Amino acid sequence: PDTYSLERGLPIPQGISKKAFLSAIEELKSAIGNENVQLNEKEVKNGWYMEHPNTHDMMPLLDAEEFIASAVVYPGSVAEVQLIVRWANQHLIPLFPISIGRNLGYGGAAPRVRGSVTMDLGRRMNKILDINAENYTCLVEPGVTYYALHEELVRRGLQDKMWIDCPDLGGGSVIGNALDRGVGYTPYGDHWGMHSGLEVVLPTGELVRTGMGALEGANTWQCFPYGFGPYNDGIFSQSNFGIVTKMGMTLMPNPGGYESFMYTFQHDSDLGPLMDIIRPLRISNILENVAQVRHGLQTLSVKGHPRTKYWSGKGPMPESVYREHLKETATGDCAWVYYGMAYGPPHIRAHKLAIIDSEFHRIAGCKKIDPATMPKDEYFWSRDRIASGTPDLEELKWVNWMPNGAHIAFSPVSPISGKDAEALYTMAKRRHTEQGFDLMPAFCVGLREMHLIVEIVYDAQDGDMRRRAERCLRDMIDDAAALGYGEYRTHLALMDQVAATYNFNDGALMKLNNTLKDALDPNGILAPGRCGIWPARYRGRGWEL
Ligand code: FAD
Repeated sequence: PDTYSLERGLPIPQGISKKAFLSAIEELKSAIGNENVQLNEKEVKNGWYMEHPNTHDMMPLLDAEEFIASAVVYPGSVAEVQLIVRWANQHLIPLFPISIGRNLGYGGAAPRVRGSVTMDLGRRMNKILDINAENYTCLVEPGVTYYALHEELVRRGLQDKMWIDCPDLGGGSVIGNALDRGVGYTPYGDHWGMHSGLEVVLPTGELVRTGMGALEGANTWQCFPYGFGPYNDGIFSQSNFGIVTKMGMTLMPNPGGYESFMYTFQHDSDLGPLMDIIRPLRISNILENVAQVRHGLQTLSVKGHPRTKYWSGKGPMPESVYREHLKETATGDCAWVYYGMAYGPPHIRAHKLAIIDSEFHRIAGCKKIDPATMPKDEYFWSRDRIASGTPDLEELKWVNWMPNGAHIAFSPVSPISGKDAEALYTMAKRRHTEQGFDLMPAFCVGLREMHLIVEIVYDAQDGDMRRRAERCLRDMIDDAAALGYGEYRTHLALMDQVAATYNFNDGALMKLNNTLKDALDPNGILAPGRCGIWPARYRGRGWEL
């Protein structure tokens, strides 16, 4: 259902009585305005991607009322963020900051601790504070989405000069995505790597600027990320050490032309040789962007039809079935599809494209699909838009694979190598078969590593399917760790497990994180449990999953 009543009632955070909590909420309302504090008392709405909820995850993996907010607050300024943080310290109420809350596949807008007060920064703090057309940089507030930034470049007539880099869906925030170390698909696809400068409210309410921003009057905050002394930015990504209120981001110069290309490969077993061909081409920048190597089944699912259109049997769809249906699509019958883009004027592109073509054709049966043969609504054109800096929503379509479509991502990192790709693919296939899921992997190839993104699509209303999805994910995380692979990012429910796989020297990294957490957030109010980091008040008391 789109709207459902809260069977467990108002989710009061543990450790505070209902009376004390409601009185603290009244106090907050009188400080920042009634309209900027909303209690999550009776019912919650799911909506869809563009009208997503900010109280919970619209694609729940566990019980829908487990990761849920007690209230949502909407600060309108840095001073209000500080005020809310001090309020949370005073009442020992957990706060969970989001920029937009479209972190679908990783927990959406949900807090890790039931009853946290969600701080929705994006609703009122959504200004593009600067676009510097000489340095190709910008400075944004949390609510600036990829769509908004792109539209502003267009409005200012700068689109011919500079591009943004966006993920597959454009409705996320520049800040939230970078803080979760998300990826896009131009040569600027490593979003965290491309940022320069943060402004952060610490869990005690103090305000800091990192890098050159710490020097009053500096005009280099968005040009030079490091400043002087320790480079602190890293501790504010995938953590719970601060609330980011401003971030600088670099913009990509329009390369003077671009050209998308698509190759198909016939056999599952082509994956290994293909990765070994990609590696030197990618490291030497002949392959220039964060490209995707997608499984044929994912190319079918992104058509947006329910799985039952093709097959309604139990267990994973047989290869013979989806390959038969692929014959009717632009890719044709194939096992893997490579989507890439060449940048620059025609003679520069021609040089690189010729090398790519001859290298890819070392694999028997490789085919280049001529873009001119592809209809305008073909998915290829969505990749074309994204890799040239134009946000899109087409990618959402594969979520329709299941009724009440939800998805959760398994996202391990490996070198760009055939051996590694095959090891992960074989393991994921075995675990998907055990739990009866279709395996739809996509390898996003960075410069010297790749993120394998496996999305399990499940029916959010089907408890058994949700449990199988969780089992499948948990088994893959353990198997991957045993093989030496770790996740680059994960869903809220799996953060403890993933964090525990990074366990060199008796968990020394988590001990360091805990030391930082206790020093920066002595009352443990900020996003307890995010990325497996629990403040002293919660640590080892049964919160870990
Ligand atoms: P938010 O939800 O606002 O933030 C993410 C997390 O960061 C929050 O939960 C919070 O813990 C923390 N956070 C956010 N803001 C702050 C702040 N100001 N201070 C402190 N902490 C903060 N992702 C990709 O990276 N690449 C893809 O190609 C991609 N493709 C997708 C395709 C589909 C079909 C779907 C459904 C999702 C995809 N995603 C992808 C995942 C997700 O949609 C995006 O990463 C999205 O940009 C994240 O949501 P957001 O920007 O609204 O971040």
